[in-house]
This record gives sequence, structure tokens and C-alpha cells, in this order.
Amino acid sequence: MSIKRSLHISILLMTVIPVILITIIAYITVTNRYAALTKENTKKYSSDYSYFFSSHLESQIIDISALTENPDIKSCLVDMASDKDRLILSSSDNYKHIVTTLNTLSANFDQNVEYYIYNTDGYLIMSSDEDASADWTEIMKTEIHTYSDTTLISHSRFTENTMDILEPVIADNNVIGLIRANITSDYFNNSLTDIHDHFLIDESGQFMLGYEPSVRDKAFCKYIRAIADNADGGENTIDASLSSEISGVYTDRLHYIYGYTLIPEYNWIYVVRQDASTYFSIVSTLPWVFIVVLITVTILSILLSETLADKYTDPIMDICQKMELATNGQLSVRCDTGRTDEFGTLASSFNQMLDIISTNYNDISSARKELEKNQKELEANYRHIEDLAYKDTLTGLNNRTAFYLRGTQILSHNEGGIKEHAVIFIDLDGFKAINDTLGHDYGDLLLQSVARQFTMLISEDDILARNGGDEFVIFRNHIGANNELKDFLQALVSIGQHPFQIEDETVHVTISAGVALFPRNGLSLSELMKNADIAMYTSKSSGKNSYTFFSSKMEDEINRRNDLIEILRNAIAENYVYLVYQPQANIATGEIVGFEALMRLKTPLMGFISPEEFIPVAEECGLIDELGEWALIEACSFNKRLIDAGFKPLRVSVNVSTVQLHDNTHLVNIIESLPEKTSMPLEYLEIELTESVLMKNFDHNLALINQIKKLDVSISLDDFGTGYSSFSYLTRIPFNTLKIDKSFIDGICINPTDMYIAGTIINLAHHLGITVIAEGVETIEQLRILQEQTCDVLQGYLFSKPITEQDFVELLKVNS
Ligand code: C2E
Ligand code: MG
Ligand code: MG
Repeated sequence: MSIKRSLHISILLMTVIPVILITIIAYITVTNRYAALTKENTKKYSSDYSYFFSSHLESQIIDISALTENPDIKSCLVDMASDKDRLILSSSDNYKHIVTTLNTLSANFDQNVEYYIYNTDGYLIMSSDEDASADWTEIMKTEIHTYSDTTLISHSRFTENTMDILEPVIADNNVIGLIRANITSDYFNNSLTDIHDHFLIDESGQFMLGYEPSVRDKAFCKYIRAIADNADGGENTIDASLSSEISGVYTDRLHYIYGYTLIPEYNWIYVVRQDASTYFSIVSTLPWVFIVVLITVTILSILLSETLADKYTDPIMDICQKMELATNGQLSVRCDTGRTDEFGTLASSFNQMLDIISTNYNDISSARKELEKNQKELEANYRHIEDLAYKDTLTGLNNRTAFYLRGTQILSHNEGGIKEHAVIFIDLDGFKAINDTLGHDYGDLLLQSVARQFTMLISEDDILARNGGDEFVIFRNHIGANNELKDFLQALVSIGQHPFQIEDETVHVTISAGVALFPRNGLSLSELMKNADIAMYTSKSSGKNSYTFFSSKMEDEINRRNDLIEILRNAIAENYVYLVYQPQANIATGEIVGFEALMRLKTPLMGFISPEEFIPVAEECGLIDELGEWALIEACSFNKRLIDAGFKPLRVSVNVSTVQLHDNTHLVNIIESLPEKTSMPLEYLEIELTESVLMKNFDHNLALINQIKKLDVSISLDDFGTGYSSFSYLTRIPFNTLKIDKSFIDGICINPTDMYIAGTIINLAHHLGITVIAEGVETIEQLRILQEQTCDVLQGYLFSKPITEQDFVELLKVNS
């Protein structure tokens, strides 16, 4: 509830509640007081009036007593012992004088008291009442004899609502007559105030005298009589202060209050009736008056409370409102300082406070802006750091860390391995060659281009990341049917089937992929990645440009491969590696014209390992450079020793991996240093390059070959016939020797086409001035055909297997 409203209500309640209470108390007090006063007055009236009544009655009694002692009356009564006497004497002066006295006396009381004089026979002989009736003679005669010596005061038996005082006239101890004073109720009314009604009730509860016809009800008079007699019932009380008197108040239902007092001399009850309707109308009117007062006070209170509430809350509301506006940033607001009271002081303090705040606001807001700017920078830095931590800067893909985190998260939610996932390890085939030949910038662009293609391929909930170099990984979250994954992998590999057009250069790069399935091929992401890598390696080693699902067999192969790499690392130092030499003989004469150095690997643990197994491994792990250099030095050294031993100088053929050609200068530098290291002239060295690999990066390789050629080193094209090199290339590369592959030689005895092709190749080579060596010749038939086709040199088991240095020396000795 607002302050204004509560203040409003409080003031209203504080005003109205006391008014209501005061009104109720006043009403109760006034009505009770008024009631008590009215009753007390009524009672007092009854007491006072009864006293007056008694006094007046007493004076009448005295007056009548005086009349009974009047000598004229006495003599008259003696004279008028009978009615006939009265008639005789009525004209006498004495008689007239008495009548005048009675009339005078009655006139004194306004004819409210009439005097009657009866003789002993009950005859009315004189009266102040001219209309007096003489009918009551018999009654009076009885009365005279009944009250011969006492005064009787009672209600009149002759006239209703009048009172009679009967007093005998006695002379010489004899009753000679009776004087009756008939008193009407007006006698008392004239004496007493007529504000109130009053009446008398006799000792038996009979109405005697009074002025209110409506109460002349015998039952009511008896009721009052009973109340007075018993002094209980109703609201009557016995007023003890009046000691000898019994008095009280009775209130009836007709709004009359009756005050009554016992007149003990006569055992009468004097009753004063007061019309209390005024009292009751006041009592019934008062509530309305009070209600009007209350409504007036309430209205005034409402107005007052509103005025006060407005007066005291308006400044507070104003300050509150301004404070709220200021809180919302409107610092220009100011409070009204026109008031001279505390609110004025508060308003000016508020304004001063706002002045200070406004002054400081600009500083604070600029500091805040600075803070916000710093925060934005921090957020940007944080995002940048996050990007650095989780994004591959080159491709914008997830990096290895992000891949690991997100992949692990998915796997951890897949408790029990209910859902299958696939981890796909991707490697670009021959990327290193592209990088080496076209430069790293070009390689970067290629990686970005490939990354975009991968991104288009994956689903929203897959995770694609660059693992490093030319390796990518995909976490395939949903694996549908078996074919769905295969279709995906096929689409993935197909990316490499289209050439990439980057900066006016078109390159072909195929994709090798390996797939490991969760949970079948591993439960952790690292295990799945390792196995997918193994499967990818299988794709690589089995011809590349394909995908392979991981199998446990691959793991054994990989383990062996890893062991092999370890061996190769130490092969030179541990003497696990050595060279054997296979002679090359003139096909026509059988004279050894050269020999090929072939590398061998033998370890105590793994035994003999074929070059077809370890050479590719050495190529892939980069150890071929070291081993190749070693082989060149070893072979040249051996050849130099042979020359030095006096054998006819022969040309030694050393196999050079195309991996060794990637670097522009490395191989050239090694070859250049050979004469210095081995003292063998380079004219006795021939390097063998494999056809199929040579053609892949032709221009680069050609430039390199030309450089080597310039050093006086012969060049041999090895394994000719296994690749699909075009003859036009042959014309462009300055080969000295062409070695027809064993697979081709194997076919010449069986397949006439092979034989024909072999002949054609030999002819062509001869035309180009190239010496032709037939490799892997094992049979005489092969030899004969080759001889017929004028092949130049023979290398094969038919002539000699690759043999050790010592054996080769022995062979030379025999052959020379
Ligand atoms: P390659 O250069 O074509 O070597 C000829 C291979 O044919 C040798 O196998 C040799 O033993 C085998 N051979 C020769 N005549 C016959 C025959 O009549 N019958 C049969 N079945 N085989 C015959 P090897 O020594 O196992 O070498 C295999 C390949 O390993 C080589 O093929 C060469 O490509 C590579 N290699 C060997 N040594 C080196 C090396 O020092 N450096 C490099 N880069 N590669 C080497
Ligand atoms: Mg060879
Ligand atoms: Mg070969």
C-alpha cells in the first residue's frame, strides 16, 4: 500500500473512530441522563404535587371546619331541622348571608369547590351551587349519621371525577347538619401547573380524581397501586430519601412516565404523568443527528486526510518519481525546492546529490565505455584464443584438440556403445610431392580447397577436423545402414577423382581413407583414430585412392611396420642393413658389364626382411634419404675397391627412390659429394629410377635428372612396363638404360604380344641410343628370345642371383 493511501486511511480512522466512539458514548450518556432526569423530575413533580394537593386539601378541610363552627350556619341548621323549615327560612337574612358566604368562598376557588349544607334529615338546605340537586337526601342522611364526629374525605359518590369533604356540624354534642365541599379536579389544576397530567388513586386502587381520561382504567390504577404497595416490578423504585413517603417512577409502553407518591395521611397515591414522547423522539432522533454528524465528520475527515496526505506525500512522491527517473539515467531531473519545510530541505539535498552524480556520471560512463571496450577486446581475445586452441588456422576446421574433445564427449554420452559411430582418417595421396614441387603456399591452398569439399560432404552433427599436414579426420555421428557409410566413403574418395584447379594450375590429388567403427574397433577416440589411421595406411599401401575398413589383421601389420621403422632407424648403426650385388651381363657374350646394388635388411629378432617390405616403409617414414645416401656411398665404395683391385671398371647401378627426388638439391648434393667420399668417378655410377613414380611429377623430375646427368651419372629407367608411361616421355628423359620389368619378361615366352612389345621397345630404345636390360631373366627360353630381339644386357637368376660382396668379387674373377 502506498504511503499516501495508508496515511489517508490512518488519518480517516484516527478522526472517524473517536467521533464514532464519542457519538456512541454521548448518545448513551445523553439518553441515560435525560431519561434519569425526566424520571427524577417526574418523581419530584409527583412528590411536590402531592404535597401541594395535601396542603390544598388541608386548607379546604380547615375552611369547612371553619364553616361548621360558623354560628350563623349552626343557628340556621337548628332552625331548619326539616326541609319545610328551609323553605320558610330561605328568605331570611341570616340564610342569605350564609349563602353569600358559601358563594364567596366558592368564588375564591373559581367555583371549583362547591359547598353544600345538609340538615340531619339529609336535606340540602344551602349551597353555593345553584344547580345543586337535592336527590341525594337519603344518602346524605346516612352519611350524616355515619360521620357524626369525623371528617370524611373521599371521591364523590355523586359527581364523577370530584372529591367530597364531609364535615358534620355539631351543636351541644349533637349533629345538627353536614357540610359537604365538592372539589373538582380543576381545583388542583389551577393550583398546580398544568404541564403535567396528574390524578389520584385511592387505597383500593380506584381512580379518584384526575384529568386524564385515558388512564382512568381501573386495571392501570390497580397496577400502579400494586407497584406502590409492593415497591417492585417494572422500573419503579422506592425512594428511601423520602422516608415516610413511598414514591417511584413507572414508564409504560405508550411513552408516558408516571411519577407517583404515596400520600400517607389518606393512603392515596398521587400520580404525575408526563408525556415522554419528547424524550423518546429525542432518543430516536439523536442517532440520526449523530449519523449526520458522523457523515459530516467523515466527509470532513476524508477531505482533511486527502489534503494532509497530499501535503505530506506529494513531495515524497515527487522525490520518488525523480529518483526513479534518475535511476533510469535521466540525471537532468530536479525536485521542486519551493517548500520551506523538511521536504524542501530533502528536495534541495536530492538536487545536490544529483548534481554530484551528474558531474561524476560522464567520468563513470567513459570509464564504463572503456571497460566495455576492454571487455569486448577480452572477449575477442578469448574467442581468438579459443579459435587458436580449437580451430585450424589454415582451413578454419576443428583442430585435433577440438576433434578429440567433441568426439570424446559424444562417445561418453553413448554409454554401453548402443549407437554406432565411425571415425574416418583421411590422407591426401602424394601431397608431399605437390608441396615440395609447387610450394607450401600452393599446398595450403590445396588443403583449403579440399577442406571445403569435405565440409560440403559432411552432415551437421559430424565432426570434421584437420589432424595436421594433409591428414583429416571425420567423426561420423550417425551411421545408418551399412551402405550409407559406404556411399559416404565413396563420395569422399571421389573428391580426389576430379582435378583441383588452383591458381591456373591443375593438380590431381587422390584420397586414401581408413575407417574405424565404434564400438567394434575401439571404445576410445584415440583408439578409434589409431585404428582408422591403420586402415588408412592399408588404403595407401594397397594402391591409394580408396577407403579401407579397419580389421584386427591390419593392426598386426601396423605393429610389424612400426617395429620395422624402429629397426630402420638404427639399421645403419646396428649393421642390420647391407648391400648385395646382382651382376648384369652382356646378353650376347655373358661378360659382366655392370651390377646392381640391392639393399638387404636382417635383424636378430625379425630375421631377413624383403626390400619390397622395408623400402616402402623407409620411403614413407622419410628414412629412405638416409638409407639411400648410405647405399650410394657403400656401392660406390665397393665399386671403387673393385676398380682398385684391378678389375675392369664396371658401372654400379643404385636404386634411387623417387622420394629422394622431392628435394631439389639434396640428391644432387649427395651425388656430387660421392667422388670425394668414395673416390669413385661418377661415370661409373648409374641411378635407377622407377618408371611409374617418375612420371607423376614429370617436369620436376626431368629437371633433376638433367642436373644429375650433367654430373656424368648414367640414368636407368627401372621396372619399365609396369607403369603406363608414354613413349613420348621416354624421348624427353635422357635415359642411358631401360630395364624391362620381370613381369614383362615372364610373359614373353607365353604371350606372343608381350614378345612383340618387348621387341618393339628394344628397337625403339636402340633407336634412341638407350641400352636395354632385361630384368628377372630366369630361363634359357627367355634368354633366347631376348637374344633374338637383340636385348643388350641380361640381369636375372639365370645368370646370377644378387650376391654378397665377396661372392661378387669371386664371380668377377671367374667372369673376367
Ligand atoms: P629392382 O630394382 O627392380 O630390383 C630387381 C629385383 O629383381 C631384385 O629384387 C632382384 O633380386 C630381383 N631379381 C633379379 N633377377 C631375378 C630373377 O631372375 N628372378 C626373380 N624372382 N627375381 C629377380 P630385390 O632385391 O628383392 O629388390 C626389390 C626391389 O627393391 C628393387 O627392384 C628395388 O626397386 C628395390 N630396392 C632394392 N634395393 C634398393 C635400394 O638400395 N634402394 C632403393 N631405393 N630401392 C631398392
Ligand atoms: Mg632396380
Ligand atoms: Mg626392377
